[in-house]
Amino acid sequence: FVNAPDDLNHLIESARRFGERTCVVDFDSDGAERRLTFTQFFDWRDQLVPMLHAHRGERVAICMRNRAEWLVGFLAIMRAGGIAVLMNSRASGPELVAMLEDTAPAVVLVDAERGQAIRAAGWQGRMLDLTHPFDPDEIARRSAGPVSAHEDAAGDDPCTILFTSGTTGRAKGAVLSHRNMITGLLNTQLSGMMVLHNMARTMGLPVETLIANLPQAASLLVYPLFHVSGLISAFLSPFLAGSKVVVMRRWDAQEAVRLIAREGISLFSAVPAMLWDLLHRAELSDVDIASLRNIGSGGQALPVNLVEAVHAMCPQAQIGTGYGMTECTGAIAQSVGPDFMRRPAAAGRVLPLVDARIEDADGRVLGTGELGEIVVRGAQIMLGYWNRPEDTAAVLSPDGWLRTGDVGLIDEEGYVFIVDRKKDMVISGGENIYCAEVERALGELPQIRECAAFGIPDERLGERLVAVVVAEGIGEDEVIEWVAQRLARYKAPARVAFSATTLPRNAVGKVDKNILRPAWPTLIGEQ
Ligand code: ATP
Ligand code: MG
Repeated sequence: FVNAPDDLNHLIESARRFGERTCVVDFDSDGAERRLTFTQFFDWRDQLVPMLHAHRGERVAICMRNRAEWLVGFLAIMRAGGIAVLMNSRASGPELVAMLEDTAPAVVLVDAERGQAIRAAGWQGRMLDLTHPFDPDEIARRSAGPVSAHEDAAGDDPCTILFTSGTTGRAKGAVLSHRNMITGLLNTQLSGMMVLHNMARTMGLPVETLIANLPQAASLLVYPLFHVSGLISAFLSPFLAGSKVVVMRRWDAQEAVRLIAREGISLFSAVPAMLWDLLHRAELSDVDIASLRNIGSGGQALPVNLVEAVHAMCPQAQIGTGYGMTECTGAIAQSVGPDFMRRPAAAGRVLPLVDARIEDADGRVLGTGELGEIVVRGAQIMLGYWNRPEDTAAVLSPDGWLRTGDVGLIDEEGYVFIVDRKKDMVISGGENIYCAEVERALGELPQIRECAAFGIPDERLGERLVAVVVAEGIGEDEVIEWVAQRLARYKAPARVAFSATTLPRNAVGKVDKNILRPAWPTLIGEQ
């Protein structure tokens, strides 16, 4: 990568060559469809850039639902040399204002709804509502032409601030540099790029010709854009490859299958809960989803029986999974297709541009196959947390190793197996219990649709493991007995509460145990 650009804009600019291909499809709040070619998309961006030029090197926040304006706004901030602060669009007005006060952006790009919400919650700073009626002809007429010369950012300059999901506490802002972003994007695409170059060489064609003749892929964007999976794997990565990106404003399984059929979606990447929804909440009998070629899942462990069900639903598609985190600009391990099917219980293989190792509690490096904390290094690792030097120092060593807070092992082939988060380990009567392991066992019961295991304080044991499940046709004793038969008896939950509604999830679709824990007395009391 001697010649790799330092400034993310060089990669973005390379997508201009896709000209008249469809770039983005999205839907207005009243359902009206909008379709933009790459040329129209860049024209639109170029109009916004002058409005943001004054903010070179400053933070500019985006606070919008998934929509075309979000994408255009992000690329305009990049081109103007700003630092994009990506706000959780599902957060409440006061939560948003707290995050805005913490990051102090020069201006906030909003949609009407979130603009009102943050004003009402007391945000006094500048806002720019990007969601004016959209007319591609008007944009072409007003087009500012090529934007003025751009001074390159250095690789270590901050590029974006993305917040972690807040699964283990308050969400933290990870400051990612231009080099972090470029490496994160390249790393997940390396094997594909090598295949393409080898093919081109074998066929005696320039790679460009090969790319121009490949059928256009289409990606369904269902992750929130403010999350690293949404930004990197569902938007930037397909966009830079000339794919069409179909934007869903919010998740709806039936709408998703309709779009897959109508738009010929080939790439679908989602959290496991969404895959589950496709299988159980969508009516598949009348729709043709044969266009799907790649089904990806990340952010959470992918249960093996879900993999089998997805494979049965879509035998023509390659299934893949990844392990990553906000602090690492996305995936640090990944496996797709046959590579994945060989080890479906793994979270992927360590990617080429990442160093990964396992350490024990004292920071000693452990060997292949040994269980400990996953620690990683490489050009994808964040600069640090925004405004939180102590938190940064707690995870990032001076020589660049990041403690992931995840417990797992790496086998001799580089597959990563994640056992649990360090913070999700319950110590009950001196025994370590990994909640994720118990959840995996619960998830194998066909009657259980959703489950979460966690610890509650216990006078005698210190902590006691309990579980909340959404299930039909099974009782508490049977559930406990199932786990006790499968794992050691001490790992079986002491009590199981049945929830009538789906479990609370955070914006990225991860079960929110911070809500379940305090609700435990009520949940179990109602039984
Ligand atoms: P917070 O850091 O605020 O508590 P979070 O860790 O959930 O929230 P993210 O950065 O969105 O925020 O998620 C990264 C975490 O998700 C990883 O550290 C890991 O615990 C979990 N994770 C990601 N991919 C996988 C996977 N394939 N299997 C199991 N866990 C995964
Ligand atoms: Mg985390």
